[in-house]
This record gives sequence, structure tokens and C-alpha cells, in this order.
Amino acid sequence: MNDTIDISQLNAEQKREHYHKVRMARKKAQIDATIARADNEKGLLLVITGNGKGKSTSAFGMVGRALGHGMKVGVCQFIKSRTDTGEEAFFGAVAHCEWHVLGDGFTWDTQDRNQDIATSERGWALAEQMLQDPSYDLVVLDELTYLLSYDYLDKDRVLNALSERPEGQHVVVTGRSALAELRELADTVSEIKDEKHAYKSGIKAQKGVDY
Ligand code: ATP
Ligand code: MG
Repeated sequence: MNDTIDISQLNAEQKREHYHKVRMARKKAQIDATIARADNEKGLLLVITGNGKGKSTSAFGMVGRALGHGMKVGVCQFIKSRTDTGEEAFFGAVAHCEWHVLGDGFTWDTQDRNQDIATSERGWALAEQMLQDPSYDLVVLDELTYLLSYDYLDKDRVLNALSERPEGQHVVVTGRSALAELRELADTVSEIKDEKHAYKSGIKAQKGVDY
């Protein structure tokens, strides 16, 4: 930045330009300093929660990113049992991406707590293997929050597996009503707010948007 500039000699347009430059230079210095400080590399735990649409699709966006970098990804889908989704068809066909649909419907579909617990335990056993395997760079635990809020899985067992995972491994947990302890453990937590959803105006789930 040229400090010797005589502001009084500038016209209005030149002054505006000058002040813009000064402001941007200051902003750049702040951003550069923040970037310089944030040089830690580590596997992150992300929680995408809240009542709005966009939790699972946010996780799948990260799956796409990771695969684009040649990283190995594992996806465990709890609760849901449908295997005709676009995400599974697309990502499941990619080498380096392991996709498991581990649910057997929502709890109000099965109406059988013991069955839900058994299904959750089976699914969790697979997730746990991924969380112990450093070859997975990113693990997505889609809708895991419900298994904790319904008490289908032991909370401490889950939190332990998440905190003991390989150092460089990223994990994304999605689902509504994430427990306080899970939020606490996470590095990044996003709460997606439900402002409006087409479903509430009677529009059914749309291919390519909802599944
Ligand atoms: P998505 O997979 O689209 O990112 P999500 O993971 O945030 O959604 P889920 O609770 O998993 O939300 O719900 C999955 C399905 O329910 C999707 O078809 C989604 O569009 C729909 N859905 C999500 N949020 C709402 C809502 N607030 N009201 C009605 N339907 C919703
Ligand atoms: Mg979801």
C-alpha cells in the first residue's frame, strides 16, 4: 500500500477506490494470519443435525469430495432400509467407496424395540470395524443420532469408538436431535433449520432431490 498518497488531492471516485484498497489490504492481512494459525491437520468429527433438509446430502457432498481426492470412504446408513437411492447407485459403484444400508425402517414402521436394537447392534458392529481401520479416510454414519436418542446403542460405546478412531480419519454423523455429548466431542456441528419443506405442502419425495 502506498502510504505517501495525498488524499486531499483525490477526487471522490479515487478516494472511494483508495479506501477500498486499504480496507481489502487489512482484510487480507487478517485472513492470511488466520490461515497461518490454522495449520493443524487432523481427522475431524462432524455432526450435521437439526430438523431441516440437507443433513445426509451434506454428508454425501463430502463423500464426493473425498473420493475426488482418491480417499477411501465408508458409508453406513442406519434406520433406512431403502436401497434404490441415487446416492447408493452412484457412490456405491465407485471403487474406494463402501456403502452399507443397515436399517430396517423407521422405529414407527417396525414397532418392535427388540428388533430395532438387534438391527442397530448389527449395523454398529460394521461401523465399529471402519472406525478401527485407518485405511478409511472418511466414514459417514448416516442417521446414527437416532440410535442414540432411542437408546438402541450404548452411548459410551459409541462415543468411545468415535474418540478412539485413527488420528487422520474424518467421520460425519447425521440425524436429528444429536446428543449433547456427541456435539461436545465433535469438531464441527451444523444445525440445519427447517424453514419450509415441500413435503408439508403435500408434495411427495422427489427422485434426485430426496432420494
Ligand atoms: P436429505 O437426505 O435430503 O439431506 P436429511 O438427511 O436432512 O435429508 P432426513 O431426516 O434424513 O433429512 O429425511 C430424509 C427425507 O425426509 C428426505 O426425503 C427429505 O427431503 C425429507 N425431509 C427432511 N427434512 C424434512 C422436513 N423438515 N420436513 C419434511 N421432510 C423432510
Ligand atoms: Mg438423512
